[in-house]
Amino acid sequence: MENILLVKYGEIAMRGKNRYLVENRLIRIIIKNLDDIGEYKVYKEQGRLLIKHLENKFDYDEVIPKVINIFGVIAVCPGIEIMDKNIETIRTTALEYMKNQLNRKNITFKVETKRSDKQFPMSSREISADVGGFILNNIDGLTVDVHNPDITLFVEIRNSVYIYSKLIKGFGGLPIGASGKAAVLMSGGIDSPVAAFLTAKRGIEIEAVYFDSPPHTSERAKQKVIDLTEKLSSYTGKFNLHIVPFTEVQLYLYDNVPPEKITIFLKRAMLKSAEKIALENGCMALVTGDSIGQVASQTMQAINAINSAAVELTVLRPLCGFDKQEIVDLAKKIGTFEISIRPYEDCCTIFVPKHPETKPKKSIIEKIESKLIKLDELINEACKNKKTL
Ligand code: ATP
Ligand code: MG
Repeated sequence: MENILLVKYGEIAMRGKNRYLVENRLIRIIIKNLDDIGEYKVYKEQGRLLIKHLENKFDYDEVIPKVINIFGVIAVCPGIEIMDKNIETIRTTALEYMKNQLNRKNITFKVETKRSDKQFPMSSREISADVGGFILNNIDGLTVDVHNPDITLFVEIRNSVYIYSKLIKGFGGLPIGASGKAAVLMSGGIDSPVAAFLTAKRGIEIEAVYFDSPPHTSERAKQKVIDLTEKLSSYTGKFNLHIVPFTEVQLYLYDNVPPEKITIFLKRAMLKSAEKIALENGCMALVTGDSIGQVASQTMQAINAINSAAVELTVLRPLCGFDKQEIVDLAKKIGTFEISIRPYEDCCTIFVPKHPETKPKKSIIEKIESKLIKLDELINEACKNKKTL
């Protein structure tokens, strides 16, 4: 019976004059995702998007997965569009629809009406009562429960009338590209892919940067990052992964700084390199998977000492309020966890000192770094030799 998919996208509606731009962006992304699966039409109607098949051959199993993961989509609802806007048609269609929903006995329901077409001769309340009464009189074993019903039947009176009851939740957020671009420092770990996801969720287009240290890190560690990028692109659309050969930088630091401080210097070098790549690609911020207090390099003192590296761009740390378990749960939900836990080292694990300093002093770090005369050159060289996938 269903012939349409309603797309709810709440938050965009609050963005003032940018609203239309953002809505149109969301429409473009949906159209692009549906491009290869058939003749679908996507259009806007009073704070909703509607997806229709041009020949009424809607395939929900195919369309919903292509739409539900798009950022900006709060929920999708398979529904019926009724062109003939009168109460008799609404009643009989609603009854048919309800009959199809009943998979067991003793079901409770209610009808909830929204009327944005104020020309329609009945109020929302009257419509709900009318349609609810009609269903009640024509199906045995149904009861009304207005507080906690098994089925809520939504009736929306707009340019056409829409009837639906199922709401499939999306991630919300804003459509990609609505908020500029950022470069995510992405290791093969659990955290940074989640940080990338959360960044993209707020409408930020991403580029990923991975620091590769062959032969100290394996080909398979690199493959892990490539696979993570692939997975993330099912939410974000295609994006660039820059693979930066970092062995020379790492060995130089290893030879020239005190072992308990190496992680700090390494992270500073990563930020500097990522910034170069970010600026070349029009990014306005850097993103890391740091969460506060998780490891030695994530104490506030360490973050401070790392951040004072000469980077101009803002460094976003979307996981700063997350517990490890929360990060793991989200990683599982978005499908990156299984890839992240494959047992291959990323470059940091190999160079981790036995006793990393947890309270490094920014001034001391900067003083040591000022004597690392070859560092900038090695960073430039590494960035120049990056491979972009
Ligand atoms: P993750 O799970 O993301 O690896 P983590 O908890 O293991 O994070 P660290 O390894 O200390 O913490 O890394 C902190 C952040 O530094 C990472 O989230 C990532 O943003 C960045 N980072 C670390 N190693 C690399 C790398 N090889 N390439 C790119 N970014 C990296
Ligand atoms: Mg890591």
